[in-house]
This record gives sequence, structure tokens and C-alpha cells, in this order.
Amino acid sequence: MSFHINTLCVQAGYDPKNGESRVLPIAQSTTFKYDSAATLGKLFDLEEDGFFYTRLANPTLGAVAAKIAALEGGVGAMLTASGQAASMLSITNICHSGDHVVCASAIYGGTFNLFNKSLRELGIEFTFVKPDASEEEITAAFRDNTKAVFVESVSNPSLDVADVELYARLAHAHDVPLIVDNTFPTPVNFRPFEWGADIVVHSTSKYMDGHAVALGGVIVDSGNFNWNNGKYPAFTEPDESYHGVIYTEKFGKAAYITKAVTHLMRDYGPQQSPQNAFLLNLGLETLFLRMERHCSNALQVAKFLEANDKIEWVNYPGLESNKYYERCQKYMPNGSCGVISFGVKGGREKAMQFMDSLKLIKLVIHVADARTCALHPASTTHRQLNDQQLEDCGVKPNLIRMSVGIEFVDDIIADIKQALDQI
Ligand SMILES: *Cc1c(COP(=O)(O)O)cnc(C)c1O
Repeated sequence: MSFHINTLCVQAGYDPKNGESRVLPIAQSTTFKYDSAATLGKLFDLEEDGFFYTRLANPTLGAVAAKIAALEGGVGAMLTASGQAASMLSITNICHSGDHVVCASAIYGGTFNLFNKSLRELGIEFTFVKPDASEEEITAAFRDNTKAVFVESVSNPSLDVADVELYARLAHAHDVPLIVDNTFPTPVNFRPFEWGADIVVHSTSKYMDGHAVALGGVIVDSGNFNWNNGKYPAFTEPDESYHGVIYTEKFGKAAYITKAVTHLMRDYGPQQSPQNAFLLNLGLETLFLRMERHCSNALQVAKFLEANDKIEWVNYPGLESNKYYERCQKYMPNGSCGVISFGVKGGREKAMQFMDSLKLIKLVIHVADARTCALHPASTTHRQLNDQQLEDCGVKPNLIRMSVGIEFVDDIIADIKQALDQI
């Protein structure tokens, strides 16, 4: 039987047997017990499936990973301690010192630092292309040593909508996989594999958890990329650190995700905690309900702001005035996410006044949970920059980022209205 994604959110990944716990249990144990040394030996040799140490596998983590793989339509998934860890391992599973990645420049700031500083220090090179780069410009960024392409489906915080079909086509023309960070739309609104992407990563700390309680990340493998094209010897030649296993031969379509677990999680170890996976699973059960409300609330708030004369500009891909409106309709007709940004007339000072006047909407450095929150980068995350420096990095001094929650929308709008009335 195949099920709608809403049903998968509620039930996929865990199917209790007779008399077992109805709710996914938390296997809060680092280790697992066996009766014979021979069985344990087979686990080590990857001859049998089973659990022996939570850094490599755990029943709670496995169930939640299987649910997310089902939501994205992939062959397998691996949970990680954070979104950062997922992005890092998604690249280092295929790129080594001397390799190169083509990356859209409209990405989360943490991902940019990870790539441009930490992975560069490990010898992996990145070329960043503008969010709206043409086919020619993207093609020109490829080199002989390019091993992957990385984009965000809807970028945080700039809300650029990537042309995933185009990026997939160009990546495949160069025999490399496309990795998509799908954190903002979630698989409820957009499934990158249906448009040719090969690997998906998420910060599950955002909408998937949805309640701002559990940091986490995930990597999902579509199983569609052919690693046997001469560019990826780590997949096609024996891994001496794992009994000479050849990933493509032994694991077929699941070669990428199996290597991520048995090689990278084994060696680097940024595993998610079973407790966090349990909380993540609770979030996933209502993901489809929450995304619908986040999107409809955000669209109403965006329309309210657009019609208000104290507002200079509004950026939300669901607005017809937005430059990504058509692309957003094509890829995510049910909506993108609940995050919007806008500029208050009067610059940095008026924006700060507006922020201080909010009551229901709280000031926090987070996005994508059930509670509406707002951030004024110029007075917080980017406060060391002057107006010119802010403009240079694409953050206007009057920019306010608002993550619209799932409260009753009239209350959200009323709070914004009373705060605007005070400036
Ligand atoms: C937050 C975020 C990350 C990083 O995730 P953490 O869970 O905070 O490590 C990566 N990508 C996007 C798009 C994000 O919004």
C-alpha cells in the first residue's frame, strides 16, 4: 500500500508488532546486548542488520530516519546532531582535499561559513554562484575536479527560490550529484527528488521539529545517482577500513547513505540523541498540518504588510509581486514556508522601535517554530556593521525577518498593526 504524505507524517517509520509500545519508544541506550559473539561479528562485518552502538545505529533514530526518507521519497536517511552536521557530512561523504563544489550563494550563513572557512581549510574548494545565475554562468563555475552542486530550495534568510530542475540538469551533465537543503519548504511543500535532486539535507531544528525543542539534522539519499562513473573511487573501490567493502556493489542504490553511516558517522560521530529523535518524531506527526497554517498565515501577514504605508518593501515568494512568484508556483504550489522579510520605512531606528513595540511576537534568534517571532539583524546578529556594510551583504538596515507561526492570524496581524501605529 502507498500512502499520502500526510499519512506518512503520522505513521511512517514505526510499525509496532503484537504487544509492543504503540508510540515509538526512546531507546535511551548507547549499546545493545547479544547472546553470541558470532552474531555480533556478523553485525561488524555488515553481514546482518542490527544495533550494537548508538553512534552507528539505534532503533529510535532508525525509525525517525525511515520516516523522513519516506517523506522525501528516498531510499534511506541518516539523522545528525544538527543541520550543520548534515551539511558537512553531505559534502565530505563525496569530496576530499583537492575537490571542488559549485554552490548557490543564497544559503544559510552557517552553511556559508562551514563551506567557505572550515571545509576550505580541509582543502575543499567552493565556487559561489548568484541565486539567479543563468545556465551559462552556472556552467562556467564547473571544473574538472567538481564533485557536487549544493543549493537551498528556499534560502534562509533571503527567500530565493532555487531553480532545482535547472541545477539538477547541469549537475548531471557534469556527472555530479545535486544536494538540496530543503529545510524551509520541508517535503510537505517540496520534494527535490521529484525534480532531479540526488541528496537532500535538512536542519530538523526548524519546521520538522517545529516547536524549537530539539536541535537536529538529516541527510536523505534518493538512490538515483550513479556513483560508478569514474569520479567517485571511494564508492567503487574497496574501503580497507571496512573489510574491503565496495559500497556500490554491496549496497547498490543505498551506497551513499550507507557510506555516510558506516564511514563518516563512525569516524566523526555527530549522532543525534535518541531523546531528540523522539521529539523530532512528535513534530513530524503534525508537520503537514502546521506547514499549511504557517503558509496561509504568512501569506496573509505579507499581504497586510504590502498594503500598509509604513512598510517600504515585503519579500515573500507567495506574493504575486515577488520575483520568484512563478517559480514558487511551479515547484511549491501549496506554499513555501512561514518566513517573510520586510523593511519598515525610516531605516534602522524605526525598525528597532517597531521591534520594541511588539507584544505577542517575540524577539528570538530562531525561525520556523509554532510561535511567531521576529529578528532585526541590523541591531542584533549584524550589529557590528554600519549601513553601507549591511547593504553590501544584502541586509538592509530596516530589514525585519519574521517567522510567522500558527497562532490565530488576526492576533498576529493585530500585534503588527499596533506596533506600526507606534512608530
Ligand atoms: C538553521 C539552518 C541550518 C543549520 O541547522 P542547525 O540545526 O542550526 O545546525 C542549515 N540550513 C538551513 C537552511 C537552516 O535554516
